Amino acid sequence: MTDRHVPLIERFRDRLPFAEGDPLVSLQEGSTPLLRAPILSEMLGATVRLKLEGANPTGSFKDRGMTCAVSAAVREGAKAVVCASTGNTAASAAAYAARAGITCAVIVPEGKIAQGKMAQTLVHGARVISLAGNFDQALTLVRELTANHPIVLVNSVNEFRIEGQKTAALEIHEDLGGELEALCIPVGNAGNITSYWRGFREMGAAPRLFGFQAEGAAPLVEGRVIEHPETVASAIRIGNPVRWEDAMAAATDSRGSIRSVSDEEILAAFRLLASREGMFCEPASAASVAGLLKYGTDGAEQIVCVLTGRGLKDPETAIAHNDGMIIQCAAETGPIEEAVLGDP
Ligand SMILES: *Cc1c(COP(=O)(O)O)cnc(C)c1O
Repeated sequence: MTDRHVPLIERFRDRLPFAEGDPLVSLQEGSTPLLRAPILSEMLGATVRLKLEGANPTGSFKDRGMTCAVSAAVREGAKAVVCASTGNTAASAAAYAARAGITCAVIVPEGKIAQGKMAQTLVHGARVISLAGNFDQALTLVRELTANHPIVLVNSVNEFRIEGQKTAALEIHEDLGGELEALCIPVGNAGNITSYWRGFREMGAAPRLFGFQAEGAAPLVEGRVIEHPETVASAIRIGNPVRWEDAMAAATDSRGSIRSVSDEEILAAFRLLASREGMFCEPASAASVAGLLKYGTDGAEQIVCVLTGRGLKDPETAIAHNDGMIIQCAAETGPIEEAVLGDP
């Protein structure tokens, strides 16, 4: 049995580039639940499980990579980390930098970052640079910056990020004993799908990887850079993925694919997960389920959908798109009865 109540790097030390005695910056990430999804399983005639990456300390899978990236930065003596981010990388980098006592700067596309993620980044004390440009431009600029200054870049170009994130695949492999046939996953910068494939390969496993991009931000599907990516799923609003070749190789080598889903399909899956499975994830995460519902299981019977981040990250989208209702009511018995018990 593996002890789950330890830092991720300690739990998987034999598979990660860290030695005994190296400094560890951890918030006890990883070891996330793998939840059965009875409604989806029934709809699809297969066993569908949800890997709840929103259960990580800052609410997304980015923590798996960030514990490694920031620990390695501290080992190298770095005093600052920087990233471009659609939100979750910023929130995670800010938290781990705070824990390590080093400086963090994040560059975010102006007005494009979900409220919860902005709140996290600010509360951890990061320097937030709001760029008049999109994510892809922000990333180009930070790559330039880190080439010329002693600051560590913690985007998914950073190898330690990919290494850390592969541990999710190791956990799923442990939980299912190698029975997994297909994994559905949202794809933005394509670091995560790259990580999963690496993790499964290291375990000698080869489930099919089905990656899903949002229609308005689907460079890997269209085979071209998207200049102005647009989607409600802000975490995957990326037009020029850093891990382009790696992601295509993961899809091909696993006999999987990378396909697209529309914003309507993403939001429908988002609402279904929340109102019927009881699981509130962020819109980008719902792309994995949207894709599975759209394209089907292709014969797979054991399926995992990765829910990459938790719903509270993006309250605006949740309040705008849901199956709940608000009923205005006077403070009197009759109206209360009608509001609670009457037909909706
Ligand atoms: C970062 C992120 C993604 C996309 O992962 P990539 O590694 O960029 O492909 C998907 N969902 C959420 C919630 C994220 O934070």
